[in-house]
Amino acid sequence: MEVLLDKLYEQNELDKEEIVYFLQHLTAELKDRLFHLAVQTRKLHYGGSVFLRGLIEFSSFCKQDCLYCGLRRSNTSAERYRLTEEEILECAEEGYGLGYRSFVLQSGEDAYFTEARMIRLVRSMKVRFPDAAITLSIGERSEAFYRALFDAGTDRYLLRHETASRSLYQSLHPGMSYENRVNCLHILKDIGYQVGAGFMVGLPGQTCEHLAEDLLFLKELHPEMIGIGPFIPHSATPLKDAPGGKVEDTLVMIAMARLLVPDALMPATTAMGTLDPTGREKALAAGCNVMMPILSPLSVRRKYALYENKICMGDETAICRSCIEMRIVAAGYKLELSRGDHCRFTGIPGETQSGEDCFKHVSE
Ligand code: SAH
Ligand code: SF4
Repeated sequence: MEVLLDKLYEQNELDKEEIVYFLQHLTAELKDRLFHLAVQTRKLHYGGSVFLRGLIEFSSFCKQDCLYCGLRRSNTSAERYRLTEEEILECAEEGYGLGYRSFVLQSGEDAYFTEARMIRLVRSMKVRFPDAAITLSIGERSEAFYRALFDAGTDRYLLRHETASRSLYQSLHPGMSYENRVNCLHILKDIGYQVGAGFMVGLPGQTCEHLAEDLLFLKELHPEMIGIGPFIPHSATPLKDAPGGKVEDTLVMIAMARLLVPDALMPATTAMGTLDPTGREKALAAGCNVMMPILSPLSVRRKYALYENKICMGDETAICRSCIEMRIVAAGYKLELSRGDHCRFTGIPGETQSGEDCFKHVSE
């Protein structure tokens, strides 16, 4: 086990068999070392900074039917809402005033937001907030759509692969295809987006082998961002009685992903904070370096229920901002409000680097 951990830290590599063995034999003591090495590795690339992204959940309509998600189209008890362009810009305006320079626009797969509407929205965001990065997380679209939105100024795209096991993927996503999901990720990378992939921990039927495949998928894709969170069962979905993911297991996956893809930007997810009041701090201590406070209007927040009992449902944007800052500073990190580009993208417009790993030693 010591040899495997050293290999993971020094070479940023393990094969599938080694990962499975490692997961099956991990002791509490080794877990602490794993977390420590993940934090060391994060420091090498991003120092002690934690980057903020303001999350705007702008539509809860979804045409997909993912078995785990409260927004799935078959959930007739879900209250649906859609923000107008002006409402979205108002949320961003408030965030901008509080210092945010990175916005994530997320929604279900809502056909109302056509290519033309999304281009208008992104262009308006870019005109109003020229020094802010715009990330979209709106699911699977065509290559032409992704290209048009990139040309309109979108910087990044989040599309978790959810699980790298084809059979598990197919069993959870009726009417969708694993090939298309992966193809979308490759297209997004080729276009030049900073891309986010990731998966849920604790899905029904998920084994150590599946988790090893998830980690190796990330290693091969080398996305700029990696989102890993626990699966939390929603009472109005077919998976309502599943046990769901555990914080501890998710932390191990976060730390291993950090060591396998050292230069990734990794959010301490809201799902971690939902299962454990200090879940996000624990995620930072296992290698994460991003937080995504919600900027959506209070009136709609509860309706964006991918899962239930989500935190921060009643807190004003300004309160969320100071709560997050307090948590980050109390945990010993530096709050970073800049665009927070991946270190392979310099953040200087037009100066995108396309090198291999960027061992940019950031001072703390
Ligand atoms: N519709 C888009 C974006 C919104 S869903 C998409 O699917 O890509 C954003 C993420 O929420 C998903 O990628 C999924 O990993 C996560 N999610 C959905 N339901 C969840 C649940 N019950 N527990 C934890 N995470 C969930
Ligand atoms: Fe829709 Fe995304 Fe939920 Fe799937 S995970 S049902 S695509 S919102």
